[in-house]
Parts: sequence; structure tokens; C-alpha cells
Amino acid sequence: MKLFAFTKTAEISEAIKNAADAETAQQGAHSRFVAGGTTLLDLMKLNVETPDKLIDINRLDLSKIETTRDGGLSIGALVRNSDLANHPYVKSHFSVLSEALLAGASAQLRNMATTGGNLLQRTRCVYFRDTTFACNKREPGSGCPAIEGENRTLAILGTSDSCIATNPSDMNVALMALDATIKISGMKGEREVPIAEFYRLPGSTPHIENVLQPGDLITHVVLKAMPAGSKSAYLKLRDRASYEFALASAAVVVQVNSGKITGVQMALGGVGTIPWRAAEAEKVLAGASATEDNFRKAAEAALQAAKPQTQNKFKVELSKRCIVHALKTATSPTA
Ligand SMILES: Cc1cc2nc3c(=O)[nH]c(=O)nc-3n(C[C@H](O)[C@H](O)[C@H](O)COP(=O)(O)OP(=O)(O)OC[C@H]3O[C@@H](n4cnc5c(N)ncnc54)[C@H](O)[C@@H]3O)c2cc1C
Ligand code: SF4
Repeated sequence: MKLFAFTKTAEISEAIKNAADAETAQQGAHSRFVAGGTTLLDLMKLNVETPDKLIDINRLDLSKIETTRDGGLSIGALVRNSDLANHPYVKSHFSVLSEALLAGASAQLRNMATTGGNLLQRTRCVYFRDTTFACNKREPGSGCPAIEGENRTLAILGTSDSCIATNPSDMNVALMALDATIKISGMKGEREVPIAEFYRLPGSTPHIENVLQPGDLITHVVLKAMPAGSKSAYLKLRDRASYEFALASAAVVVQVNSGKITGVQMALGGVGTIPWRAAEAEKVLAGASATEDNFRKAAEAALQAAKPQTQNKFKVELSKRCIVHALKTATSPTA
């Protein structure tokens, strides 16, 4: 493991300055914030992440969950996954988020993992995590052994010839369906980015995963109130019942009036290189009757652009069934 400098701060401005300084101090030097450390420290031990400076942000005042005037939520970046999942307002008004969080990792990990860290967790592609292999995401231009190799768990949507890695998060799928906004503080001030614009598709630069700039700190995630009468569901399918990443998942927020779908927001996990907004499925469902036939048509549309690899063709049908089940659950009279 590479030697690194370690600092702590309780001031947001100091954290940002520290991080930006490390980026500019010497060529190639870079910094990382550490929150729960459940992803970053593993990757440092594997020499996949090799920051020169680690800035502990756990003392920043970013651990509050607050309701907003419109009935939405402001979630501090340091709110732990378990606190967010079990918060009474989240359980009653954003249950899809609570369900997604509780489907992730283990209780111990959720007690440490933070909202900001979860947004930025890295892929579980085995080649990315093993420095004896080439990997375009870890070392740009070195190649992608996954395309011809172990790709059973990797992506079928949003892939490129350079990278087919899956975004592994459950929380991000729910946040995508909820149209979350990410608040960022950086050297140039504060800005807000809709989650739909936060992640970058791999294209020819898979090492650039989001729109953050050196020194940028995520401070909050903001949710609007869900439309009146919304029902929701998060369904995760995986190789074992707990402590496992998604092979396919679906987060659904839907409004139904007299049997017709009057609004729907849907996102998919386990199949995309980024948390995947199922826009094509939403188009099929808008104004349609809430029937299993229409759910299946929506699922077909969602996966139409899927490009399976040698070992993960099964994900196409798995994801379709996941969508249909999530929609059935969300629209059932007991939901
Ligand atoms: C065994 C195991 C199983 C898991 N299973 C699942 C699963 O099933 N589903 C799932 O969704 N997740 C799973 N996870 C991942 C887990 O959810 C993440 O590790 C966790 O959410 C990361 O949060 P953290 O606070 O520990 O991040 P850290 O490790 O502290 O940080 C992660 C990254 O985010 C950056 N960062 C952190 N906070 C900020 C901020 N405020 N602003 C800017 N940058 C920041 C860090 O610099 C780092 O690059 C699993 C993890 C493990 C180890
Ligand atoms: S899929 Fe992406 S992360 Fe995995 S080896 Fe290829 S480039 Fe690396």
C-alpha cells in the first residue's frame, strides 16, 4: 500500500482547499475524501486507489436528514445508509429509497457507509480490482480483458468497446427513479447537478465516471416530494439472498388512476454502466392500462438496446422479469 498524507477537518471550505491543493501541488498527485471508508480503503489496500492525500470528512456538519418546504428531503452527504433507510420520513414517503438501501451490503457496512460514498462507489469488475490485469478504467488505454473474459455480472446497457463495467449501487437506482439532485461544493462555489447528468457513460474514457472536478465535495442529496398518490417498489435479483450485488434490479415510482398509469419513473440496476433510467419503458407506460401485458411491453422497450456479452445474455430476460415484478408489486392494491 502506498504511503499517503492524512488530514482531518471540521470545515467544508478547508476540506475542499486541502483536496484541491493536493491535486495541483505536484503533477500526478491526487487526493481523496474518506467518509465510511468501506470502498476506498479496500481499493487502497489493493493498490487500485493510490491517493497521495486522504482527507477525513467525518467531522463535517453533513449528517442531517431534513424535510424541505415542498415535502421533499435534504440528505447530508455523511448520513449513514442505515440511518437513511430507517428514518421514519424516508420509510413513509420514500420507501423505494429505504428498500434499496436495505437491499445493499450488510447491516455492519450500512452502519458505516455514507450517502456521498455510496454515490461514488466503484465497480466490482474483477479486473478493475486486480492490478495484475489490464483495465481501461484503472489505467486508460491498457485494454479491457472483461470483454472476452469474466463478464457474467457486468453491464448490458451503456457499454462501450472500452468498458462494460456495471455501476454496483442499489441506492443510486432509487435516487435515479426519484430524480434526485446532487449538491456539490468546490473551489468555484456551490452547484446542483440532477442525478441524470451526474454520471458519465464510459465511451472511450471509462476512468472519468462523473462530473466532479478536483476538490469537489458532495454536500447533500435533495429529493422532491413524490407526486400525490405515488406507489413504489424496489426489487433486487442476485445470486444469493443477502450480502450480494444485484444481477438486475428495478426501482419504480408510479401513479395509477382508474386503472390507467398517469405517471411513472423507473430506473434499473445491475445492468447498466451507470444507474439506468428506463426512459423507453416510461414512454410505453405513460397513459397505458396497468396490466401485466403492458408491463411486459415496457420491459421489452427498456432492454431493446441491450448489448449482452459472452456470459451475461441471461441478464436481458432477468431484467425484463425484474421490471414486470416491480411494476406488479408497486401497482398491486396492497402496495
Ligand atoms: C462486502 C461489500 C458488499 C457490498 N454490497 C453492496 C450492495 O449489495 N449494494 C450496494 O449498493 N453497495 C454495496 N457495497 C458498497 C457500499 O455500499 C459502499 O462501500 C459504501 O456505500 C461506500 O460509502 P463510504 O462512505 O464507505 O465511502 P468511502 O469508501 O469513504 O468513499 C467512497 C468514494 O467516495 C468518495 N467520497 C465519499 N464521500 C464523499 C463526498 N461527500 N464528496 C466527494 N467524494 C466523496 C471517496 O473519496 C471515495 O472515492 C458493498 C461493499 C462491500 C465492502
Ligand atoms: S469492464 Fe471496465 S472496469 Fe472491467 S476490465 Fe474492462 S475497462 Fe476495466
